[in-house]
Amino acid sequence: MGLQAERLYYTNSYLREFSSVVEECRERNGETWIRLRESAFYPTSGGQPFDTGYLQVIDDSGQDGSSDPGGTARDAQAAPDPAAQATPRSGGGGDFIDVIAVEVENGQVWHRISAQQPPLGQSPVDQAAGQVAGRQSPVDHVADTRNSDCPLEVGQVVIGHIDWARRFDFMQQHSGQHILSACFEQMQGANTTSFHMGDTYSSIDVDVASLTDDQLRDVVWEANRWIWRDVPIRARFVSQAELAQMKLRKAPSVSEDIRIVTIEGLEDNACGGTHPSSSGQVGEILVTKTERMRGGVRVTFVCGERALSVGKDAVDLVRQIATDLSVGPADLAGAIESLQHQVKEGNRRYDEIRSHYASLLARDFAANQTTVIDGTHVLFAVLPDLDEVQDVKRMALASAQWLATEHPGEPQLVVFAGEIAGRTHVVAQATDGAIAGADGIIKAVLPALGGKGGGNAKAAQGSAPASATEVLTAIERALSR
Ligand SMILES: [Zn+2]
Repeated sequence: MGLQAERLYYTNSYLREFSSVVEECRERNGETWIRLRESAFYPTSGGQPFDTGYLQVIDDSGQDGSSDPGGTARDAQAAPDPAAQATPRSGGGGDFIDVIAVEVENGQVWHRISAQQPPLGQSPVDQAAGQVAGRQSPVDHVADTRNSDCPLEVGQVVIGHIDWARRFDFMQQHSGQHILSACFEQMQGANTTSFHMGDTYSSIDVDVASLTDDQLRDVVWEANRWIWRDVPIRARFVSQAELAQMKLRKAPSVSEDIRIVTIEGLEDNACGGTHPSSSGQVGEILVTKTERMRGGVRVTFVCGERALSVGKDAVDLVRQIATDLSVGPADLAGAIESLQHQVKEGNRRYDEIRSHYASLLARDFAANQTTVIDGTHVLFAVLPDLDEVQDVKRMALASAQWLATEHPGEPQLVVFAGEIAGRTHVVAQATDGAIAGADGIIKAVLPALGGKGGGNAKAAQGSAPASATEVLTAIERALSR
């Protein structure tokens, strides 16, 4: 059987229900995979992710599949309806087996099915029990196939149902990519070097060094005009002779069974993916991001319903922020700029007031906590609620300065300690003739507490993993010795 006959989506990308026959079943790493005589399930390939859906097991099947109508596409001639849903599971009778992944191996399409599929109508309690019990009788009528773990027998007739919402979404993203890539090439001379289609976003890498906002806008607008023109999109297999006559955007990656997807008036392109029958069904192409990538530009985009959702979310977000800032959406940029200015000005004022407060606090410490020991004005202070290590030094300097103004020429020793994150930081200031030098204080105390520090006789600092009270007590003890 030829490739076109086996892969039903090649000739009809709107086929979402088909009958077929199980040809092979195998277990691999605890996964169950089956191969069908023909299938409309799209396997991951060419950048497009696989289809999901389910298989409906037909009860009165013959072992050789001869009773089946020949794998005909059940609604091959149905008019394209983008909004159509697959047949609901409740209809038609029989058991249902989920198709959870589809891959190609050596040219054959393999469907991964969920191994545990309780028969229709089984209660949730029974289902749970069945899961715990393991893979027993996944489907009633094949329960006697004891030599196989596969819930389906070779020769079993099934009806495949494609998850149409998922498939049609990928058809929109894939065709949108063709249109966008063609416009980049025609308007910017930029080739698409890679293509990624994801569950939320898709992207292409184009080989331009940079892209201005205007250039991007021109390309995206033209791409959307191709959607509005609603031109036919056709796919067909061509001979080597026909291929030689065509001017393709990109050389085909295969040498036989070459399938050309034509967007009328725009381009011919070798592609095995699924596409809608006209460009209008792509709906919209919305570029959400561009970024430099390996010498080119990565363009991230969404099409169809995704574009509608992303656009709506963006509008909702803007409106919410505007409401929070009590302005209209059009005044948002100005409101944010003014807010940033206010924050900056507020921070500047806060720093100013804080430094003023610090000098008042320093004076308060100096005026009320200074004692005179052997003719030296001595101030030991612990800073409560320390925010920054730097504050200890600021306060020590400010207090020392105040003492020097109040008692000019008289010796002084100022020691400030502040605790932050389990560590006490100490700053000492001393004048000539004081009872101890600044570095002497630091060295006599901090190493013994597991800390370190240094400086000279006039100014020294250090820290230790101890409380501020412990440090000050140790300093007082050292001085009284
Ligand atoms: Zn393609």
